[in-house]
Formats: sequence, C-alpha cells, structure tokens
Amino acid sequence: MVSSYGIGQFHIGRLKKGEDLLRGLTEVVEKKNVRMGVLFAIGALSSCTFAYYDQVKKEYRERFLEKRVEILSLIGNVSLREGKPFIHAHILIGDESGIWGGHLLEGSKVFALEYHIVELVGSPLVRVFDPETGLFLWNF
Ligand code: ZN
Repeated sequence: MVSSYGIGQFHIGRLKKGEDLLRGLTEVVEKKNVRMGVLFAIGALSSCTFAYYDQVKKEYRERFLEKRVEILSLIGNVSLREGKPFIHAHILIGDESGIWGGHLLEGSKVFALEYHIVELVGSPLVRVFDPETGLFLWNF
C-alpha cells in the first residue's frame, strides 16, 4: 500500500511559550491548508501528555509528565480524518533522569518549539476506523 506525492510548500516556524503543542501544530496546518504532509519538530516542553497503544485491549494508555524536558524528536504526518487535517505524531522527550515517549496527545505545554512541515501535493489519504486494530488508519 503506497501513495506517491509531489513536494509542496515547506513551512518553518515556531510555537510560543505556553502554547499547547498538538493544538498549536494543528492550527498551523489548518491555517496553511496542509491536507497531506510530514512534520518534524524540536524544542522543549514544560509538561508532556502522550500515550502508548495497548494492542490487546485496543485502547490508549495515557501518561502525563509534569517535567521540563527536551524534545529529542517529534515526527508525524498530516492526513484527513472526518474531512479535516489531522496530525498523527510521536514524540521522544528526555532530561538528565531519563527518556520517555509515545503517541502525542493534547496537553503538552511548549517552552520553545521549532517546527518543519512539508506539504505533500496529491490526493490526501483519509483515516478510517480499522476494526482489526481499533485504530484510524489510512484507507488506500
Ligand atoms: Zn500513534
């Protein structure tokens, strides 16, 4: 299963201190009308909310870390879910005491953030519910 795209605009920017990380990135893709894309970001957070997916119970286990951490890596994509641009991103964070990471959720507070969003040109992929995994996956 593969779709191929051309490269559109490359958006580079930063979010402000105190902004919600996932909401802030979603506002950028909505404003720039990115319907299909890839994104990367680095920076620092003053708290982070993420999850991992329990494949047996088919549910997300949420975790909230009230910690000042570096974003070691944030990678994700943009596609459509229910007709709107939807970001699926995973984050790796750390400080001097350890490294954590998972599926990024709303509820992460930005200290500083630099993002890079690459728009892909072509027919956007659409997320639909997949009963086998319990996830909203791309419908090819
Ligand atoms: Zn995920």
